[in-house]
Amino acid sequence: MRVVHSPLALQKLLKEEQGSIGFVPTMGALHLGHRTLIDAAKKANDIVVVSIFVNPTQFLEGEDLDAYPRKEEADKKVCELSGVDYLFYPDAASMYGNDEVSLNAPNVRGYIMEGSSRPGHFSGVLTVVNKLLNIVTPTRAYFGKKDAQQLMLIETMVANLFMNVEIVPMDTVREKEGLAMSSRNAYLSEQERTESLNIIKSLHIATQLVMKGELSASQIKDEMIGILEPLEVEYVTIVNRSFEPIEVVEIGNTIILVEAISGTTRLLDNIWI
Ligand code: AMP
Repeated sequence: MRVVHSPLALQKLLKEEQGSIGFVPTMGALHLGHRTLIDAAKKANDIVVVSIFVNPTQFLEGEDLDAYPRKEEADKKVCELSGVDYLFYPDAASMYGNDEVSLNAPNVRGYIMEGSSRPGHFSGVLTVVNKLLNIVTPTRAYFGKKDAQQLMLIETMVANLFMNVEIVPMDTVREKEGLAMSSRNAYLSEQERTESLNIIKSLHIATQLVMKGELSASQIKDEMIGILEPLEVEYVTIVNRSFEPIEVVEIGNTIILVEAISGTTRLLDNIWI
């Protein structure tokens, strides 16, 4: 495995490669969720590139940019053992200039839900993903459904900008008790971790309600909010696969999304129905 820090150097190296390239962009502190994306990339492509970059432009003032877990040595080992060919590990100065062309998230779908609690977050995400895709020019890029709004916005960017890459959505990997794996789970105390299980409980209840024929979005949301306590609920939203809020659940075309705060940790989860 080659570890490359410079964007231009990576571009040059990848131009010399033959065959398909699978790309997994991450912010590091790799867990089994990331590894599932890497394994899928490995199966379907000749070359696998993983990036680790804690992108400053997607953090808002006062968020956890400095505290975000960084585990360089352990992450390198994980990538090496997973058969990654190139690990891209840039610093912020090599990725950003002082006076840049900017990319904004779409006005509506980039500023609802997580985009409303973190205004501007998705502009930062799309900017860095655009840069990374231009550096790597992968055949396929892998993203988790756990970050469903992010996935939808990246798919939108790729379509809007006519980018030549296949976006591959990957199912959410969970801990044994059901908590969606996330690098930020490391922030949770024992008690917060237990309380966080209310998120998956609420999503399970939502699924059961739908199975029993309850299709009213407001009824389902009310039930879920009751279960989420004592977490601080940022939103429970029910949308169709185009991310338009819906009143009535349509089986096969619905995503139920939750963002809740446990202590000071923001947790996202969702279920596709
Ligand atoms: P992150 O390092 O948190 O920015 O995540 C990098 C990629 O891994 C994103 O596409 C995430 O959606 C995906 N990802 C993170 N956690 C999980 C998980 N538990 N299951 C599947 N994919 C995940």
